[in-house]
Amino acid sequence: MSWKKNRNFKERKKLVIAQYGLRYGKGMKQIIVLGSTGSIGTQTLDVVRNHRGSLGIAALAAGSNIDILERQIREFSPKLVCVYDEKKAGELAVKTVDLEVKIVSGMEGLLECATVPEAELVVAAIVGMIGIRPVIAAIKEGKDIALANKETLVTAGHIILPLIREHGRKLLPVDSEHSAVFQCLQGNDGKEVEKIILTASGGPFRGKTREELKKITLEDALKHPNWSMGKKITIDSSTMVNKGLEVMEAKWLFGVDYDQIEVVVQPQSVIHSMVEYKDGAVLAQLGTPDMHLPIQYALFYPHRVFLPGERLDFAKMGYINFERPDMETFSGLKLAYDAGRRGGTMPTVFNAANECAVALFMERKIAYLEIAEWIAYAMTRHESLWKQNPDVDDILETEKWTYECIREGRGI
Ligand code: NDP
Repeated sequence: MSWKKNRNFKERKKLVIAQYGLRYGKGMKQIIVLGSTGSIGTQTLDVVRNHRGSLGIAALAAGSNIDILERQIREFSPKLVCVYDEKKAGELAVKTVDLEVKIVSGMEGLLECATVPEAELVVAAIVGMIGIRPVIAAIKEGKDIALANKETLVTAGHIILPLIREHGRKLLPVDSEHSAVFQCLQGNDGKEVEKIILTASGGPFRGKTREELKKITLEDALKHPNWSMGKKITIDSSTMVNKGLEVMEAKWLFGVDYDQIEVVVQPQSVIHSMVEYKDGAVLAQLGTPDMHLPIQYALFYPHRVFLPGERLDFAKMGYINFERPDMETFSGLKLAYDAGRRGGTMPTVFNAANECAVALFMERKIAYLEIAEWIAYAMTRHESLWKQNPDVDDILETEKWTYECIREGRGI
């Protein structure tokens, strides 16, 4: 075969392989999934299952759910697994004694998992600020990050972004809104962006008054109209705190000011977000509400590969409508803009106060509307302690302070 023919053959093979989600030249892409037993983690493993020829699992990590972990180990054969809870890690080690897998625990174990040498990408899908250190460790070890754990950017965006640049890594958004914006930015110059328009479903209580929200129960708050997600994020979606966290996440991911980030309610969750450019053109990404798409896009970026599932039927859908968010009733969103604009340690207080208040609501110890009230309380109390450029220790200290502040405020 001539050199020219050979080159054409290689090019064609490359295209076909990319089309079918296989990798060209380098063999299997090894990934690490932190938070593998959760909603994002299990959907990530669905994508890996659908693309066994091109994706492999180097390591998994979860908090304590060893039954799901055991099944995942038997199916995906990772060589390293972290169970944060030490006792549960021991139990899992006994259950998997017939397999060649090392089980580790605690923060040390998480860091070991996040830095497994043969992996090139980490899916950061742990819930909460516990996810910050593993993400930092992974970037320093030269891994790309597919980021679902929004708490990492909300609280430590000023640390993560420079680190990503320094190590020349990719930060690929998994959150559907940010993935949509990321997709709308492809082939365009980020400097020509006028604004980012994040869409919100408005959650199950869209249109309700504060009076009506007084009666909301845990069961009501756990019913999201469009998306199936973990419990905490489902409640955050209902209060619009999740949208607030996404606003802060967008600021770091796309390097825009808060004035350039607009939230618009789009109840059908068909438009996942939009970008308006300087010439007035608006690009949007649409699709059915299915997290497999943004997860898969992050894993295969910049390629698009087949994803089974429903497709949009525009004629059947008929219409898509928009509304302004009600920031008076859902004050969590307004508080997020305030916290983001204040910057420094304030986003950490916003996030930690929300985590604490949501946990109390889930334990049925506070009422639904109190979630935003406790966030506002902690933010006001924090003003005198506010710090501009917190390092990771400051951030984690601020998290502890916030929990303590709410505990004291409740008189416990
Ligand atoms: P889930 O609650 O469903 O899952 C959380 C995962 O984190 C579980 O695997 C859990 O393990 C693990 N985990 C919790 N604590 C620890 C710990 N100390 N050490 C190691 N692992 C731990 O959450 P989601 O999947 O819904 O969300 C994950 C992240 O992704 C969140 O930051 C969320 O905001 C974000 N996100 C989620 C979306 C969604 O559709 N679900 C959409 C966009 C972003 P275990 O099961 O053992 O407790």
